[in-house]
Amino acid sequence: MLSASAVRAAMRPRDITSRGLHLLKQMALINGEWVGAASGRTFQVMNPAENSVVATVPDMNAEDTQKAIRAAADAFTTWQDVTAKDRSILLRKWYNLLVQNQNEIATIMTSESGKPIKESLGEVTYGNSFIEWFSEEARRINGEIIPSPQQSKQIFLTRQPIGPVALITPWNFPHAMIARKAGASLAAGCTCVIKPAEDTPLTALAMAQLAQDAGIPKGVINVITSDRKNAPEIGKLLCQSPLIAGVSFTGSTAVGKILYEQCADGVKRIGLELGGNAPFVVFNNADLNKAVQGAMVSKFRNCGQTCVSANRFLIQDEVFDEFVSMICDTMKTTLVIGNGKDEHVTIGPLINDNQMRTVKNLVDDAVAKGAKVMVGGKTAEKYGDKFFEPTVLTNITEDMAVYGKEIFGPVVVCIRFKDEQEALDIANCTRSGLAAYVYSNDIAQVFRVSKKLEFGMVGVNEGLISTTEAAFGGVKESGIGREGSSHGIDDYIYIKYVCLGNL
Ligand code: ADP
Repeated sequence: MLSASAVRAAMRPRDITSRGLHLLKQMALINGEWVGAASGRTFQVMNPAENSVVATVPDMNAEDTQKAIRAAADAFTTWQDVTAKDRSILLRKWYNLLVQNQNEIATIMTSESGKPIKESLGEVTYGNSFIEWFSEEARRINGEIIPSPQQSKQIFLTRQPIGPVALITPWNFPHAMIARKAGASLAAGCTCVIKPAEDTPLTALAMAQLAQDAGIPKGVINVITSDRKNAPEIGKLLCQSPLIAGVSFTGSTAVGKILYEQCADGVKRIGLELGGNAPFVVFNNADLNKAVQGAMVSKFRNCGQTCVSANRFLIQDEVFDEFVSMICDTMKTTLVIGNGKDEHVTIGPLINDNQMRTVKNLVDDAVAKGAKVMVGGKTAEKYGDKFFEPTVLTNITEDMAVYGKEIFGPVVVCIRFKDEQEALDIANCTRSGLAAYVYSNDIAQVFRVSKKLEFGMVGVNEGLISTTEAAFGGVKESGIGREGSSHGIDDYIYIKYVCLGNL
């Protein structure tokens, strides 16, 4: 829990553009230089709560990306040979600066993402923990010596960096998604080209400035900014350039599939963390207070815009009405809609018009097909044009889009089930497989259900599962690979077998 003074410090004074924040960068970073786009073009970064311009950054394209790739490739020739200990020290210095500047980074993040300031501070702390973790892991990327079947030979396995990598990240966690990719790749000895989301490039640029201040050599981290329309050409080049060894992407399933395909030709290493469609299963024997508490954090963090957000609430018959009534009451008494820079606010705006349309259409479709609105159900214009009321829907049927789609908004969709098998059938009836949640006080049931859930991560009687120490990732169409934990390094290394013969 962040102290009230930390939150206040992050919010003072309120107008970000007039503050002269030293981390508010309006240029991209290539080979240690802060540069504009070769074309001279720029685009505006908007504050979604206020519809105001926060900053203007370069609108880069393939030409600029090529320069960043070249810089990462040149830097790799030396960075791969920096000792593990020295890489660790540099990452630690970066971590220390990120901690020292957490309030300023959180302020920038809230301005460009709309995220409530407390959540931004929470994300910065979470993101920083990846840099800290990987500064430690950097020194433990050990090899193996394996007993040879012949006396004349010795078998060595070493773990080597794959080369320069491309890191493409989304807007919903502008800091943490970069931190867990960049931390792992730098620890492994890779250099990187980061392409942050068009909605939230400023957090990435602030982090890059601090990496530079920490003494991470030029070209090891490059950040290219671009508006949405240039993302496909940049993505294609990053996937297809022979200088790039691997791509790590967090974002939509649709874009992830494009990148996967584009990486095929060069047989590139790829890590994908894509959309989820998390079931939140509450059995009759569950502790309903804990279930509601877990549901609130899982559903309403970042206004429901996280890939591990509970998406389908599957509630067993006997406790259905009670759970619905409890969550409605809790929402009415605890959620505060508004501009994220106000420290009391817990529900900010949706990120952009597109997301607003998606959420509104999903709710309208459900209501038109007979869903019952228990709370909310409509836009909250009095706060701005991207706010949607926290909503609870019941009477859900399979023909409604909310039944199967990832909502990415503050909407609780409650579906009734009779028995364990039915819960599993509904939960697994999706091509997504990122996070799932189960509330039950029957240990045998917990064991059976968590084993059968076709998801990469399962929270048992817990709604908040993300942490640096654990392996984050999905199955099915939710992705490939794991981030965080000791496994987070694997995407960035390959195992080299050296055979020493004629001994
Ligand atoms: P979201 O729906 O959360 O915005 P996206 O998958 O659309 O998720 O975006 C995630 C990241 O992928 C952003 O940085 C975006 O600019 C980038 N992106 C979008 N389209 C492409 C593409 N065709 N190739 C590469 N990157 C892309």
